[in-house]
Amino acid sequence: METMTGCPILAKAPPGTAMPLEPLDFERMFDVLPVGAMTCNLDTFEIDYANPCSIALLQSIRETLGFDPETIVGTSIDVFHRDPLHQRTLLSDSGRLPHKARICFGQEWLDLHIHPLPDSTGRVSRALLVWAIATAEVAKEQEEYRLLRMIDDMPVAVMTVDPVTFNISYLNETSKRTLGQIKDLLPIKPSELLGASIDVFHRHPHHQRQLLADPANLPHHARIKLGSEVLDLQVSAVTGTDGVYLGPMLTWSVITKQVAAEARIQQLAHFDTLTALANRNTFREHLKACLARPDPKLGLLFIDLDGFKFVNDSHGHLVGDTLLIRVADRLRACCGRPGTMVARLGGDEFAILIAEAGIEEARDVARTLLLEIVAPYQIEAERRLEIGASIGVAAAPEHGTDSEILLSRADMALYAAKAAGKKTFRVFTPELETRVHERVRLEGKLRAALAQADSLFLFYQPITDIATGRVTAREGLIRWHHRTRGWISPAEFIPVAEESGLIDELGIWVLNRACRDAASWDDDARVAVNVSAKQLGKGTLASNILAALVGAGLEPSRLEIEITESALLADELDCLADLRRVRDLGVRVALDDFGTGFSSLAHLRSFPFDKIKIDGSFVQDAVQRPECAAIVGVVADLGRRLGVTTVAEGVETQAHLDLVTAEGCTEVQGYLLGRPVPSARDAATIAALNRQAALHRPTSQVRAIAS
Ligand code: C2E
Ligand code: MG
Ligand code: MG
Repeated sequence: METMTGCPILAKAPPGTAMPLEPLDFERMFDVLPVGAMTCNLDTFEIDYANPCSIALLQSIRETLGFDPETIVGTSIDVFHRDPLHQRTLLSDSGRLPHKARICFGQEWLDLHIHPLPDSTGRVSRALLVWAIATAEVAKEQEEYRLLRMIDDMPVAVMTVDPVTFNISYLNETSKRTLGQIKDLLPIKPSELLGASIDVFHRHPHHQRQLLADPANLPHHARIKLGSEVLDLQVSAVTGTDGVYLGPMLTWSVITKQVAAEARIQQLAHFDTLTALANRNTFREHLKACLARPDPKLGLLFIDLDGFKFVNDSHGHLVGDTLLIRVADRLRACCGRPGTMVARLGGDEFAILIAEAGIEEARDVARTLLLEIVAPYQIEAERRLEIGASIGVAAAPEHGTDSEILLSRADMALYAAKAAGKKTFRVFTPELETRVHERVRLEGKLRAALAQADSLFLFYQPITDIATGRVTAREGLIRWHHRTRGWISPAEFIPVAEESGLIDELGIWVLNRACRDAASWDDDARVAVNVSAKQLGKGTLASNILAALVGAGLEPSRLEIEITESALLADELDCLADLRRVRDLGVRVALDDFGTGFSSLAHLRSFPFDKIKIDGSFVQDAVQRPECAAIVGVVADLGRRLGVTTVAEGVETQAHLDLVTAEGCTEVQGYLLGRPVPSARDAATIAALNRQAALHRPTSQVRAIAS
């Protein structure tokens, strides 16, 4: 081993030794050296010597070795390196030696020094490897260093903060780079950030410290405005293997304009722009997701504002929008419970999903909401508005676990709430569904009836002037005889016609029939035709009326149309415009069922009606209840002063007649003076139908129609 004299380690032998000594036995020296020493033949790259310490060290890590340490001599040096070629290149290049390295070997870190060993000719034919297993601390440091390098290279900005001092303890390369790009917005230079307090990034450092100090607050997501830029910040807790909180880690990025635009598009796609509530799609998706969970349980509420269109039309869209925003705020405030989603489905329709809620809880929420929604809204200093709402409730799993079915059932319940007089809620019941199916069937039958028109009839009921006893008008009342169902009441099929849109066709049929019948009457009594709310506001009514008048050759003054109060609630301005056009034709307009709507007197001011028809329920109650009689009196009085005819409907008895006469009504209509009867043309057909029906049905039903 004389070739080893050039070894720098050995050259460290204490200089100037005084005593004459035996020549050095290098091999023995290596045998006792407490570090690993091996030599490698650079022609074969085989280990040709390993000292006992090397063998002992290799024994201690034999688990990761994969070969017997005793056979190390003769083994290729390649076994020590993940990249043998790289290692061979290094060893062959004496210019790069000596070389110091720390290599990872399985679980262990090895500290390695490689020295060139020239032979007697000066050629480096061998390498000396002096090595030791790194201490546990060194290994840990090394591991940390490796992780930090990885984090440094990550494309997100990462910062760690000391949870006690709140100083920045680490910044990765991306952090430094990104901060460099926005350095003008920073209160301190990016190069000084390491070790600086995190407080510089926050307007309320105290809040921030509270947040970061406690891992229970984490993870936390925030957007921080820094000058013109916005930082999207995610804070997570770093904990040791023992669960001890080591401090917060902040990953963050600057939201560029493009990201902000993407966020905006997301917002538009998923949220309603006016109220910022979830939109219909988002709601549907959320519902589906909730129902897809095992054993789904949830409450579903459909909310529809009562008379919102009226607000919109009378106060303008701006006020309408403000009202919607305020309603949305109240809904949100009532639904703070986690797992609740409030959405605007469109227009004045809202929906709420309450996760893990049963029917009872959903019912409670509906009750609370009704109270909250009706409380007055101060829209502007001078403007105080009120609005009601109808709510339909359905729940999973009771009413189904399919999203479409559940939605349609909540809708049915909402429909029932509206039909029940609004400002109320209804929970879905199977009967509602049966009713809906019946309506659909009825719609089909009605469509067929309209196509044939041989089962539809117009009956006429006289309206009589009290003073003269003369019939001033006859009201046309539609009748429908179905082959198997018999007589179907207009109270049942008119709403179906209104909803399905068939009402327009039906309305035209009635107008034409009424005008033609009236043209053939012996007297000059007017004919009164009921016009549905749904026929108004479309701009078509006046032209349909004109066509009917011309077709029948009837004077416009012989026609009267009756509008119910609810018609005026729906679409105020457009409706009034239609009514004015009708009146301009010379056709009279009557307000039907007066007293049943909730702002009756306001309607009288909104349009110059020719006639007020006081609802029959009022007249019938008046005999028993003095306050009803008083109201009949007030309306009659009002009519007199406005120069308007007042008709008392539903006069069935002499007592009714006496009462309404005493109260000052000018005309009467009711069974006492005449029931609705078919026209002369239809009389024979109707008589035949009733005879036929009498054979199959209880007499009471027959009498109701044939009268
Ligand atoms: P309406 O316009 O208020 O018609 C008066 C209703 O009261 C009629 O019911 C009539 O038969 C009934 N009636 C008349 N006198 C008395 C009485 O003394 N006592 C009682 N209890 N009732 C009396 P009908 O024919 O069943 O019509 C119900 C409603 O259906 C009508 O109320 C009207 O709103 C609607 N309707 C009827 N025909 C048509 C039509 O051709 N088109 C439209 N759009 N609606 C119609
Ligand atoms: Mg009527
Ligand atoms: Mg009426």
